[in-house]
Amino acid sequence: MTTATSHTTSTMRALVKARPEAGLDFDPARPLPQGSHGRRGEPGPREVLIRVHMAGVCGTDKHIWEWDEWASGRIPVGIVTGHEFVGIVERIGSAVERVEVGQRVSAEGHITSGIDYNSRTGNAHIARDMQILGVDRDGCFADYVIVPEENVWLLHDDIPDHYGAVLDPLGNAVHTVMSADVSTKTVLITGVGMIGLMSVPVARAAGAARIFAVDTNPHHLDLARKLGAEQTFLVGQDDNWVETIRAETRGDGVDVLLEMSGAPPAIDAGFDALRRGGTAAILGIPREPMRFDLTNHIIFKGSTVIGVNGRRMWETWYQMENLLLSGRVKLDDIITHTMPIEAYATAFDLLLQNKALKIVLDINGPTR
Ligand SMILES: [Zn+2]
Repeated sequence: MTTATSHTTSTMRALVKARPEAGLDFDPARPLPQGSHGRRGEPGPREVLIRVHMAGVCGTDKHIWEWDEWASGRIPVGIVTGHEFVGIVERIGSAVERVEVGQRVSAEGHITSGIDYNSRTGNAHIARDMQILGVDRDGCFADYVIVPEENVWLLHDDIPDHYGAVLDPLGNAVHTVMSADVSTKTVLITGVGMIGLMSVPVARAAGAARIFAVDTNPHHLDLARKLGAEQTFLVGQDDNWVETIRAETRGDGVDVLLEMSGAPPAIDAGFDALRRGGTAAILGIPREPMRFDLTNHIIFKGSTVIGVNGRRMWETWYQMENLLLSGRVKLDDIITHTMPIEAYATAFDLLLQNKALKIVLDINGPTR
């Protein structure tokens, strides 16, 4: 392979959490990210410097923008934010073997040294030493990002850029759905925000027999039906939805609950709608510790409960690739906006007002 044209200068554009308060700052001249050996713009021996073309704005980024309790307790001020992207490899470290300059890539944003118990036993997504791109170290809302070679995902030619930029949340959806074994099962999704909506076609492609969805937003429910949910319920209007679901499922309740809301009342009602012996896969994160009826929801019901974090490395990524290439999972209705990185304030405004589902920031145009 020939060496790609080098665009690299000594500074770049970046969205930085520059101050311990709400908002992000656009820095037009941020020094390039640092490699593991400490030199800026140069990947360490086993790292890769990637020119970022498109990047997805995530719920996590909303928390970082708002500077809520979680964000202020975790995010180092001064960090470049963002963790979902597609780009082109610009430079590789001296010991990199698998990745080449010029390749079109995305990356797993959960970075581990690969040596703790979980990493060594096939569970790197819950490694003890995990660092998250754009949360614990400089991320991808910038012209360049550095990631370890192990984290690079070579993007299939037939997967378009805007899909490549949102593999992180799609992977959350795929991981959740696949952890619960939905084939031939009835499925309830509580909370059809961006990831809940992505879960609808994924569950459909994975063979779910029937999908129910509940949410507080009627537009999200319309889209859930368009994407393949059979029956949807609007909180505040269809308030007998648990009874309706039971009536539609022989009086038993659904086989599988996919909890995507993090809202305590939805979690409670979702478990009410789950049949005895059913499986609940939980991805939604409650804002604070919550009361939960362990006795009835789990013990007497004999429920199986699965907590879902990140994406399995790399099983989830292969599953995503297969699903996208099959044509059965399409994200065009979910990616509602693409806007230049300079319009970041508008993008966050739309997200915070729930006027957008998924926004992709265009940083360096299409990859090809
Ligand atoms: Zn994300």
